Amino acid sequence: MDKFGFSLSKARVIDYDANDRSIVSYILEREPSLNLCIECGCCSAACTTGNFTGFSLREIHILLKRGENEQVRAKIRKCMLCGKCILVCPRGVNTRNVVFLSKQAFAKNGGYEF
Ligand code: SF4
Ligand code: SF4
Repeated sequence: MDKFGFSLSKARVIDYDANDRSIVSYILEREPSLNLCIECGCCSAACTTGNFTGFSLREIHILLKRGENEQVRAKIRKCMLCGKCILVCPRGVNTRNVVFLSKQAFAKNGGYEF
């Protein structure tokens, strides 16, 4: 039977020390504007893909900073690199380049194809 109504969330711990931060370091070296992101969500609201799927660029930024790379790897394929998100970012983050560099970093590590 499908879940209905409220339920307790599974307990979740984020171990920053154990997580791999190499992907976000690769991006920040090349696109430091990611550091300006305040996770406001404007990019997600404007995102073409996000309007039709559960994709959220705001979530991607949070996951990248946490080093939760496997989740990012599974989700970023949905981004079409259209660049609409850049137009609405109040902090001037080059969001398209952040996604592009994420894809590039995963491709360099292997296991990801554009
Ligand atoms: S719109 Fe800009 S500041 Fe807001 S979540 Fe997206 S990248 Fe971050
Ligand atoms: S570049 Fe990607 S994240 Fe940005 S609006 Fe387009 S599909 Fe969404």
